[in-house]
Amino acid sequence: MKVIATLNAGSSSIKFALYELLADGLRFDAGGKIEEIGTAPRLRARDAQGEAILERDWPQGSVLSHEHLLEDLFAWAAKQLGDREIVAIGHRIVHGGSDFYAPRLIDDPLLEALEALVPLAPLHQPHNLAAVRALRALAPNRPQIACFDTAFHHHLPPLATRLPLARTFHDQGLRRYGFHGLSYEYIARRLLDADPQHAGGRVIAAHLGNGASMCAMREGKSVDTTMGFTALDGLMMGTRAGALDPGVVLHLQTQMGMSPNEVETLLYRTSGLLGVSGISSDMRTLHASEAPEAAEAISLFVRQAVRQAAALIPSLGGLDGLVFTAGIGENDAVIRARICEGLSWAGVALDPEANSANAAVISTQESKVRVRVIPTDEEAVIAHHVTDLISSERSTSK
Ligand code: ADP
Repeated sequence: MKVIATLNAGSSSIKFALYELLADGLRFDAGGKIEEIGTAPRLRARDAQGEAILERDWPQGSVLSHEHLLEDLFAWAAKQLGDREIVAIGHRIVHGGSDFYAPRLIDDPLLEALEALVPLAPLHQPHNLAAVRALRALAPNRPQIACFDTAFHHHLPPLATRLPLARTFHDQGLRRYGFHGLSYEYIARRLLDADPQHAGGRVIAAHLGNGASMCAMREGKSVDTTMGFTALDGLMMGTRAGALDPGVVLHLQTQMGMSPNEVETLLYRTSGLLGVSGISSDMRTLHASEAPEAAEAISLFVRQAVRQAAALIPSLGGLDGLVFTAGIGENDAVIRARICEGLSWAGVALDPEANSANAAVISTQESKVRVRVIPTDEEAVIAHHVTDLISSERSTSK
């Protein structure tokens, strides 16, 4: 029996999954997440029935590297699989730049080219690539395949890719790319299942996790998105400011003496919910806090989300659907309600009971905009791409 493995390695977490490759498609076998890498890592895995099959904690694990944890994970996967064999490993790679969008077998030149994009995604790309290297050492003969988070936005209308700068910069790759594409691809497929003719029509998908963005989709295709050249733009996030007057960045450097590295740390790691609250980047922790700063951070998160959603509507020419996904989008009824209230003028009417229950459709019957909650599954998208790539390679090498 053949198995596809997927890895989504971030700065403080590694998500993974194993899928059996059957004659009629893929079957999820097991998967999970290592969280809190760098402080007290914990590993949780579940099987296809959702039963917990592995729980491991490293309370004193602040020094454990990603490589060490991947080695442990790989050893567990080998045990879990028995005589079944991993035939390929798919990775989420956050930035593919202008040149890479279709899923691709990772070789040395590709690795080098992706390395050059690290400055455009310093929070993610180094960890994505470190996982590729670690897996190469652990399983040298296993094909590894890159699936890009920028790919879903590759066919954005040309104007949506432009930054309002001199043309020469665009020609040098300074353009809007967009991210969270694997998640949006999953949402687009699910919308297609729900509404085969129109894939939900003119839809805004809101991926609200630690990283947060929105994608304007028309019939399942990205026509605009809130993240741009890097994953810093758009919504306020756990530790990222989101859209910010560029004059602030100049001021920090020229008037306050901050170095480029310090500004990078500020923009990627210590702003957003964490910066405004001074308490936490985690939405649950902020809800639980009574500090006025926590409430203000939440209110600013909602305000920015509403503004960004509103700014996407002209790209769609109206709004038929709104989808919430990722940690906050899938679970946080309060945030969903507040964002929907901010969009009531656009025809969004929420059903409070359905919303509290995290139902699949949370808008009222009368709502002009159909509001859905769709749990995302980036791992499934990666596994499908890997399967398609290895089967097309097999058929061309026949
Ligand atoms: P990542 O971008 O790291 O994949 P997630 O999609 O897991 O992040 O989202 C993390 C965010 O989701 C955190 O702010 C967390 O507090 C929030 N979250 C997760 N579960 C819940 C929940 N049940 N209620 C409210 N917020 C939640």
